[in-house]
Amino acid sequence: TDTPSTHSTPTPDTLTPVLTDIWDAPRSWTLATYRDHRGYEALARANEIAPADLVELVKSSGLRGRGGAGFPTGLKWSFLPPPDGGPRYLVVNADESEPGTCKDVPLMMANPHVLIEGVAITARAIGCEHAFIYLRGEVVHVYRRLLAAVREATEAGLLGDLVVTVHAGAGAYICGEETALLDSLEGRRGQPRLKPPFPAVAGLYARPTVVNNVESVASVPGIVLGGAEWFAGLGTPKSAGHGIFSLSGHVTRPGQYEAPLGITLRELLELAGGVRAGHRLKFWTPGGSSTPLLTDEHLDVPLDYEGVAGAGSMLGTRALQIFDETVSVVRAITRWIDFYKHESCGKCTPCREGTFWLQQIMHRLEAGRGTPEDLQSLSDIAGNILGRSFCALGDAAATPIQSGLKYFRDEFEAGCHTPARELFPYGRSALH
Ligand code: NAD
Ligand code: SF4
Repeated sequence: TDTPSTHSTPTPDTLTPVLTDIWDAPRSWTLATYRDHRGYEALARANEIAPADLVELVKSSGLRGRGGAGFPTGLKWSFLPPPDGGPRYLVVNADESEPGTCKDVPLMMANPHVLIEGVAITARAIGCEHAFIYLRGEVVHVYRRLLAAVREATEAGLLGDLVVTVHAGAGAYICGEETALLDSLEGRRGQPRLKPPFPAVAGLYARPTVVNNVESVASVPGIVLGGAEWFAGLGTPKSAGHGIFSLSGHVTRPGQYEAPLGITLRELLELAGGVRAGHRLKFWTPGGSSTPLLTDEHLDVPLDYEGVAGAGSMLGTRALQIFDETVSVVRAITRWIDFYKHESCGKCTPCREGTFWLQQIMHRLEAGRGTPEDLQSLSDIAGNILGRSFCALGDAAATPIQSGLKYFRDEFEAGCHTPARELFPYGRSALH
């Protein structure tokens, strides 16, 4: 990038390979390789710890949900009501679908056993005998890998009485929303449920259920082995631990970089060889397209929940999509809106109707056929979706529009070459 660094030069030591430590080992996905690297030692240790103490351990580690929202994981576990003799479930949300997010799939491909070990420890902590891993249907290779790993662990007697079911959905973005996921797992059309009740109280088959992201669950064995203090000592006081940052787009060495929360994009870019040669950073997403865009002014924002919020965005899934100056903001946002319009489940009006109108307008702007009124309509529609939709998908669709207009309004204006009265001589409604 053009901007001089204000930080000390990052080195590979800046990274914290915990979840990614064996990714380069030969046949890293096998039980044998995992065991060569202390695999299932944490489970053996956890089996000696009382379930309530495991919950306390994860609470005090400061681990926050790695699916995007950052809700404290141990606290979520502690919301389960006391045992009543009926079943309680753990559901791993492996439906990674957020545009730009590519951390859970590589993790499950390279080291499925760290997830399965995390499942076994979490199940013990919450008193669950049947756990589910809900996966996107498209990633058949991951499905096969997980099935093989569950079989290996079961046959090796590592899981005791715990049953782990790997379930592949049909590839709908909305099924990553935890309650839509539960509906889909129950065999219904995936649409979000009203919350509360939260899944902790009434989840799968209306029973107490913990829904955790892949990376959250996979972080648990490391916490058991390293201790809560070690984990809490990484990252920042309110955003503890390590996380996988996925860099994609116009970066020299795209990929997954595991580092303490609070690292900056500038540091990550230096580790990843910078923006591609001869180009400069124009804009980026801190956590996929659902999180407000940031620009080259934000290179030194600490990538933790508070730091990114302070810059007016959200940490989300740490999907850092890097765009250089060759990219049209209007075109990039149009592609995202196409995605959200296609994936809107249709349950609520602001998102179902709003994404349709956003898509119409963005396509006009992209073709240079927008009108000045279109910019106002974009703002109004996005404003009417935000905070008024039934689930986070609606907000996600409105978010890039609002931040795009905030930082790159000139590019939207450039899409309005033709005055409205010439484009719509009979009134705009006649066209729709
Ligand atoms: P949320 O803040 O509503 O909930 C987060 C978690 O905390 C949920 O599991 C919820 O059940 C739990 N929770 C919150 N309040 C609770 C309470 N009072 N009692 C019990 N449990 C409670 O967020 P969300 O709608 O689940 O997720 C939104 C996030 O998802 C976004 O920030 C986005 O980054 C992320 N996202 C991720 C992907 C992906 O591919 N990983 C895709 C889309 C969105
Ligand atoms: Fe469905 Fe969109 Fe409403 Fe969510 S916000 S319930 S995806 S229509």
